[in-house]
Amino acid sequence: MDWLPELDHCNNLQELKELCLQCRSCGLRENVKGVVFGEGNENSDLMFVGEAPGAEEDRLGRPFVGAAGKLLDRIFGAAGIVREDVYITNIAKCRPPGNRVPKKEEAESCFPYLVRQIELIQPRLIVCLGTLATQFLVHREARVTAVRGQVFEKGGIKIIPTYHPAALLRDPNKKKAVWQDFKKIKELCKTK
Ligand code: SF4
Repeated sequence: MDWLPELDHCNNLQELKELCLQCRSCGLRENVKGVVFGEGNENSDLMFVGEAPGAEEDRLGRPFVGAAGKLLDRIFGAAGIVREDVYITNIAKCRPPGNRVPKKEEAESCFPYLVRQIELIQPRLIVCLGTLATQFLVHREARVTAVRGQVFEKGGIKIIPTYHPAALLRDPNKKKAVWQDFKKIKELCKTK
């Protein structure tokens, strides 16, 4: 999807959400129950961006509520982050069939919604959960394994990639790295 002029006319997240819920710009919409727009504190300084909804997220219309989401909640708890205080969304707002990674053209189609979400929320720090978010928000060739824990800055917003919680479920050895990243996230939240 090229940039939609309608996105600029959305002056708040509710208007943007209503537009997004009607979106059929890519093939992912054909197989899902609905669009999972994102949720949380619309004035948060801290935003988390994952890959795409899974089955449970599609069923409930909420991001990060399946197994990976429950692990993310536990990480939040350990790091002293209150889920309701942050904003959580994904690169692709519709669930890919079989939970595959969104294709490049699907992610490209959906990206303008995230750009407008970021413009409206104006976070100070964005945490990329996994490679897809890192590629769209840091560098298109980036791999999360290579850049996790590093702090980037774009348009006055700090960006830090870390592993997607689904990767931790597959490989618990990554937990130590994620914990280091979350300690850094907490430090960055303290600095103005
Ligand atoms: S994934 Fe994004 S671009 Fe594709 S239909 Fe859903 S909301 Fe629209």
